[in-house]
Amino acid sequence: MSDMEDKLTSGLAAIVGEANVSDRFVDRLCYSRDCGPDKAGVPAVVVRPASTDEVVGIVRFAGANRCSIFTRGRATTFLGSGVKDGVILLETTRMNRVEAIDLEAGYVVVQAGAIWHGIDADLKRRGYELAVPGGGGLFSCTIGGTVAVNAIPHGATEYGMTGDHVLALEVVLPSGDVVRTGSWSNPASEPIERNANAADLAGLFIGSYGILGIITRVVYRVRRIPEAEQFRFYAFDDYRDAIDAAGGIQARGAATFVVGLFGGPKPAGEDGDAFLHVVVRDRTCAAEARVREAEAICESHRGRPRPADGTRHYWQEHMYSWLRNTGPSAYYSDRPFFCPEVAGFVSTDGLKTAVALFRAMREEREGDFETYGIRVKGVDAYFARNGAYLWIDTLYDERRDDAWAYGLRLRSEIAERMFTDGRMSPGGLGAGIAPHILPKLGPAGELLKAVKRTLDPDGLLNPGLIVGEEKAR
Ligand SMILES: Cc1cc2nc3c(=O)[nH]c(=O)nc-3n(C[C@H](O)[C@H](O)[C@H](O)COP(=O)(O)OP(=O)(O)OC[C@H]3O[C@@H](n4cnc5c(N)ncnc54)[C@H](O)[C@@H]3O)c2cc1C
Repeated sequence: MSDMEDKLTSGLAAIVGEANVSDRFVDRLCYSRDCGPDKAGVPAVVVRPASTDEVVGIVRFAGANRCSIFTRGRATTFLGSGVKDGVILLETTRMNRVEAIDLEAGYVVVQAGAIWHGIDADLKRRGYELAVPGGGGLFSCTIGGTVAVNAIPHGATEYGMTGDHVLALEVVLPSGDVVRTGSWSNPASEPIERNANAADLAGLFIGSYGILGIITRVVYRVRRIPEAEQFRFYAFDDYRDAIDAAGGIQARGAATFVVGLFGGPKPAGEDGDAFLHVVVRDRTCAAEARVREAEAICESHRGRPRPADGTRHYWQEHMYSWLRNTGPSAYYSDRPFFCPEVAGFVSTDGLKTAVALFRAMREEREGDFETYGIRVKGVDAYFARNGAYLWIDTLYDERRDDAWAYGLRLRSEIAERMFTDGRMSPGGLGAGIAPHILPKLGPAGELLKAVKRTLDPDGLLNPGLIVGEEKAR
């Protein structure tokens, strides 16, 4: 071990205690990957702070030693975080307390490393829930990581995005300063309004993948659990009918959540070209009226009503495999695999073009798919309020280097074609996708780089991620 690595370990141990720092190779290796397909570097040391003060101490220590930090929640992102060799890996999961629940004001104050589902479980005991149910990773992801990537949650059709319900954030900047946003920036005030005190500073950090600051506390809206839940499932013989039906449901506000299946395995026991799962949550009478409206819309677009047990299982157990009427093992089959996901927002009508584009790309590459043993796991869309979030998942055998290389090449190609010809904008810019998309963003991409340079001139936080600039090591 080098003198520098020794110095890092002992310096960090002085801040968080010896038990919360590790430079053992096995630990460092385990903290190098996330759920994405990108091969990442190995950190020099792993550190696990328990408070904002400790995060400040680590950031100042890293700055003084010109060593970059990579922030990690539970590493459930599929988009590739890109840990670099030799960084300090700061893991947030010891910052896991629910600090305040104010049901009258409608919010909860939590430390950033708390697990999404754990917070929700606390609230559910009181008849409340987080204002969005979380994404599919909700059983393992942290709230800080979920806000940092602005995850696309279940319920997006009615409830919107993760970031829409953030009332305030506490963030440690690369300088070591701690900011609180919105009305919380007034030390005498409660965190009741995101848009107080000038610009929406919380918005700066939502979806920024941790390149601008380390989120240490999140104030998040809560809602009373709705009285009733209703589930419907429809099969369509033409995917364009399914998209038109989803558009009709969006226009009428007839459902809480609509998920469309446009590729990948058909749900077990079903026949059709595309499928819609429909979830309605509301007061009992309102839920009844909305579900009738959703049924009428689907049927007017030639949808065939099918048993909705899978829809109910999917919603209540948050298990993707139930989108296809099956438990997880049948869905994923042979492991280990890796999944270079391409995902993004597209208008509801534009989804027709995006689905057609992927189907054409897949047909052109039939031979390659065969050669590399690629399976399409899903071409699925969460319908948002005014568009859709499409995600295209292909599965590759993780043991085959040639398949791995092909999978990454194909991911770039799909991401670029979807952006240009498919009019799709990625939800997040993980390390794997950013180099292909950022240059296409024009002045918006330049602004993001300028903000990064201003807040983090020495490239201390998540170096190389999104804007690709590195200074500290
Ligand atoms: C089974 C499964 C299903 C999923 N379904 C969905 C889905 O439906 N919708 C969806 O959008 N995503 C989904 N995901 C992806 C994943 O859930 C999100 O990316 C997740 O919410 C990220 O949280 P995390 O704690 O794992 O963050 P990490 O993966 O650890 O970090 C993600 C990024 O955020 C940064 N970061 C983490 N914590 C902080 C912090 N405190 N401050 C600043 N930056 C930080 C990291 O540096 C990194 O760049 C799914 C994942 C799995 C495993």
